[in-house]
Amino acid sequence: MMAEAFERAARRPRVRDDLAAMTGYHSPQVSVEVRLNTNEAPTAPPEAFAKAVADAAVGLDWHRYPDRSATELRTVLGERFGFGPEQVFCANGSNEVLQTLLLTYAGPGRRTLTFEPTYALHRHLARVTGSEPVMVERSDDFRLDPTVATEAVAEHRPAITFLCSPNNPTGMVEPAETVEAVLAAVEAVGGLLVVDEAYGEFSSWSAVDLVAENRSMVVTKTFSKTWAMAGARLGYSFGPSWLVADLDTVVLPYHLDSLKQAAGVAALALVDEMEARVSHIVEERGRIAAELHRLGCEVWPSGANFVLFRPEPGADAGSGRSVWQQLVDRSILVRDTSSWERLDGCLRVTVGTSGENSRFLAALADILDNR
Ligand SMILES: *Cc1c(COP(=O)(O)O)cnc(C)c1O
Repeated sequence: MMAEAFERAARRPRVRDDLAAMTGYHSPQVSVEVRLNTNEAPTAPPEAFAKAVADAAVGLDWHRYPDRSATELRTVLGERFGFGPEQVFCANGSNEVLQTLLLTYAGPGRRTLTFEPTYALHRHLARVTGSEPVMVERSDDFRLDPTVATEAVAEHRPAITFLCSPNNPTGMVEPAETVEAVLAAVEAVGGLLVVDEAYGEFSSWSAVDLVAENRSMVVTKTFSKTWAMAGARLGYSFGPSWLVADLDTVVLPYHLDSLKQAAGVAALALVDEMEARVSHIVEERGRIAAELHRLGCEVWPSGANFVLFRPEPGADAGSGRSVWQQLVDRSILVRDTSSWERLDGCLRVTVGTSGENSRFLAALADILDNR
């Protein structure tokens, strides 16, 4: 019996050698009343959105393949930001945009460059696509020194260099001068700069204005956070038309289904509602940051819909974990980043509804008062 099981296991296909040691990307879920751990929007899009999608579903040519070039969605998205449809690429979440960029421009024998700490999926997807990820550390305060960045680009000559602004998990926004300096260095080595702006609408400036036909740069965005559509899996990017044409040849044909294309168009008709949601979240972010400061936490300046903080500055890594557990005991879930490299003792809280934020802040005050 055991020999048989062993034999079966031995005949099983093995994961690619270069991926065998890799762990998957996931965000642990715990059943709680207040979920502030994955940077989702705290409320659903307006009812008018769901109705528009339902109407679209009824009228859809379900027997036909989708519009392969998602022309209407690309056109509406482009118009909003001043681009033509040929400069817009859409995919199933910005993660698929990122993966397509890596499949197209990185891969075996090519390097990618990230500045840590940053979004773990950038290096994860680099590995999955057979690229060689190079990680360079940010300064102690998690800022990126432009000289460090440009020297790293010149040294490693990456095919793709990633910036994430606002950065996840710190929330910090990359200044325009840094993006411009990194872009110049990237172009000098014939690489591509990818600016991940999943949280761009929550911040004060966007690198989208730097995108141009003669620049090796692309900005990725998503409907998951700002548009309260994490369940729909829709992301997009703005880049030169030659880059979009390259991506279109690599991505699976008909990868973006008809209903999702319609959902994106329906969402874009409700810009005012989206902007009202975003400004409310930005306001609440200010309230959370101020209260965290008042409670004596170490807080990083956020341009996103979340705040990174260290509840007990100077305490050991275990103290972050203990605060996280005490929050869970009060049915509040934040992201436990306390054991992440360089984030010892830190937690990351997503901005929720006013009520959820008040509950989180009251619970934290109670925990810190009783330590
Ligand atoms: C959430 C997030 C994304 C979004 O991914 P989707 O696939 O669009 O949901 C991309 N980049 C960063 C940095 C994120 O935090």
